[in-house]
Amino acid sequence: MTVSAEPKHADIDVLIAGAGVVGLACAWAALKEGLTVTVVDRDFEGDRTSHGNAGGIAVTESTPLSAPGLLFKAAKWLMDPLGPLSLRVAHVPQALPWFLAFNKVSRPEHFRRISYALASLNNRVYDDFLPMIEDIGGSGSLYRRGAITVYETDKAYQADQHEWQFKRDLGVQWRELSKAELHDLEPGLAPVFERGVFLDQWSHIGDPKRLVTQLRERVRALGANFIQQPIASIDASKEHPQAVLANGTRLPATRIVVATGAWSEALAKSVGDRVLLDSERGYNSTLPHPNVQLSREIIFAERKFVATPLDIGLRIGGAAEFAGLNAPPNYKRSDALLSLAKRFLPGVNDAGAVRWMGHRPATPDSLPVIGASPRNPGVLYAFGHGHLGLTQSATTGALIADLLKRRTPRVNLQPFSISRFG
Ligand SMILES: Cc1cc2nc3c(=O)[nH]c(=O)nc-3n(C[C@H](O)[C@H](O)[C@H](O)COP(=O)(O)OP(=O)(O)OC[C@H]3O[C@@H](n4cnc5c(N)ncnc54)[C@H](O)[C@@H]3O)c2cc1C
Repeated sequence: MTVSAEPKHADIDVLIAGAGVVGLACAWAALKEGLTVTVVDRDFEGDRTSHGNAGGIAVTESTPLSAPGLLFKAAKWLMDPLGPLSLRVAHVPQALPWFLAFNKVSRPEHFRRISYALASLNNRVYDDFLPMIEDIGGSGSLYRRGAITVYETDKAYQADQHEWQFKRDLGVQWRELSKAELHDLEPGLAPVFERGVFLDQWSHIGDPKRLVTQLRERVRALGANFIQQPIASIDASKEHPQAVLANGTRLPATRIVVATGAWSEALAKSVGDRVLLDSERGYNSTLPHPNVQLSREIIFAERKFVATPLDIGLRIGGAAEFAGLNAPPNYKRSDALLSLAKRFLPGVNDAGAVRWMGHRPATPDSLPVIGASPRNPGVLYAFGHGHLGLTQSATTGALIADLLKRRTPRVNLQPFSISRFG
């Protein structure tokens, strides 16, 4: 990747910090509006969260993680060292304010408010995602075959009924599947599931890394300037904010979009804005020759993991580990998920499995941060998408384009404001 010469002041109309799927979608949308765009990333082709995710266009996931009653379940999960949730002891002091806020928003009134805000994004995802994926040449690897949530026990299915019914109010279409219907649709699953929920609106892509590469190449072809450097801070004290690179170079721009995923807290802080953002680390394994046929993504309700039939193999992933941005990965988590998968996918072949860990940019209320800084309207935020960064990427790009063009945003952005963190 070539490092471009530092552009002159007037050259940069829009500077996008971060070239994950969210930053690139913002760059794509801005370029389509005819704006001049510079993208800055410390490592354009390096491994990042957007490369290794489960590939789900999970538009039905419109309820937050912090739900009424979750705390009791979370306490149980924390007892299991390789369970779906873990918190490393060394990270507790840093994570405490995040978890206190997470607990606070589990109250029913917050749960409903947050769900409607999430639905306002998720319900328009295809309006924004389809034009983008078509333009980058990726439509052929968008699989619109739905997804199925599977339940081992009727008791667990009944326990989730309240949420499934509420999801209908949010615009989610679902239908119950009997054991026999489930077997007809997905004969590769072990016959241990009592119920299924078919989610017609869900889809998945063939390879998240390929999508990022296609998007990056398209953004470059549309005329974006790429600068490969870490950004140390953002100086928002002047009318035109400046990205201050680690090498000391200052890049003034009319507008700066902060889309640095799980690393965005430090940049927001340099602007003077407070945010609660933590890395919710997730793990997976990709099996290149799985020897098991699945037609669509499967969500294992009680065990909290998913299996996605990607073009590059079967990806088995999940887990939520809070250990910060710098602790080394604990790939025993990938292995634990794979062991579960072996129980539920008879005959699965794990030869050549590739293990991976990524940093979900997680806010306590599961809502991304999208909108202008109250300190300087020239700084726009686009981060914190947690489990849904791929899903909401194009919609975030479209909303940032609305703001860059000074149009009324197509979605009410008030719930996503950074001001909510005080
Ligand atoms: C196991 C797992 C499964 C997932 N499954 C799904 C799924 O099925 N569907 C879905 O929608 N989402 C899923 N997600 C979530 C999704 O992957 C993320 O929300 C999304 O990738 C975040 O994208 P991003 O562009 O904000 O961040 P990233 O992809 O992390 O990109 C951030 C970029 O910023 C750059 N950067 C950071 N700091 C600096 C700096 N100071 N200077 C310069 N550059 C910087 C980094 O190099 C990086 O390129 C999953 C996540 C995980 C971990």
